[in-house]
Amino acid sequence: MGRATEEEITLLGFDPKDLACKCCGVCRVELALLQRMRCFFDFTRKLDFEITSCCRCWDHHVEVYKRLYGAKWETRIAKRSTHLITDDQGNELESCAMDITGLPLHLEAVDVVVGKVWLGGYHFYNGNTPSIHLDINRKRRWR
Ligand SMILES: [Zn+2]
Ligand SMILES: [Zn+2]
Repeated sequence: MGRATEEEITLLGFDPKDLACKCCGVCRVELALLQRMRCFFDFTRKLDFEITSCCRCWDHHVEVYKRLYGAKWETRIAKRSTHLITDDQGNELESCAMDITGLPLHLEAVDVVVGKVWLGGYHFYNGNTPSIHLDINRKRRWR
């Protein structure tokens, strides 16, 4: 399907600023992700969510893992994360993942209703800031 144009991003009701990499501002997103997420947001329209992470260049991805795992980041880093818009070799990719946050009650509602049926990667991060990862890779769950 390929990379979403800026027009497609806007037509599907997203703001490129919410999707762009937090460090370099580059926004490269797979159109199929946005179509799937549009359905998700329409289905859950009574609930309130905020997008916390979509595009990540390799440098930003490293930053995220350093924050999470400190000195051990290198052994933990997901080299094929679906968020990546550049890999560790500098190749360009499209982000196929979105993380969202919201009220715990709203996240739990998603977990119950969407978690089991989502046709892609799905993970509920129940940390200090609970969030949900959704991607359009093959169906998988992890902890
Ligand atoms: Zn970046
Ligand atoms: Zn994620």
